[in-house]
Amino acid sequence: MDCLFCKIVNKEIPADVIYEDDKIIAFKDINPKADIHILVIPKKHIVSINHLKEEDKTLIGDLILVIKKIAKDKNLKGYKIIINVGREGGQIVDHLHLHLLGKLL
Ligand code: 5GP
Ligand code: ZN
Repeated sequence: MDCLFCKIVNKEIPADVIYEDDKIIAFKDINPKADIHILVIPKKHIVSINHLKEEDKTLIGDLILVIKKIAKDKNLKGYKIIINVGREGGQIVDHLHLHLLGKLL
């Protein structure tokens, strides 16, 4: 499958990895739009929020908890979580990802 983020998951292309476990990987966005701009993704290929299944319920919770952990590690007092869904929603890469955007104080 020709998916950019699956290639990052499989280490076929490099990324600046911030966090990794058996289900999730987080890495720096290549074109940051904030001081801290990290993408948190499931290792499983899911196209978007619109493609989530009942079985993915806990995975979504886990993705959010990873964001919370990274924000704490980075000492972020506040941050934004953005999920673009579909081309019309600004989604360019068709592998579900949560943007963590924060400002260093
Ligand atoms: P989207 O618009 O799909 O929500 O966000 C895709 C994000 O992936 C963009 O912010 C873009 O900068 C980032 N991105 C695209 N290609 C790469 C890449 O090869 N490596 C990394 N680390 N980020 C990428
Ligand atoms: Zn993928």
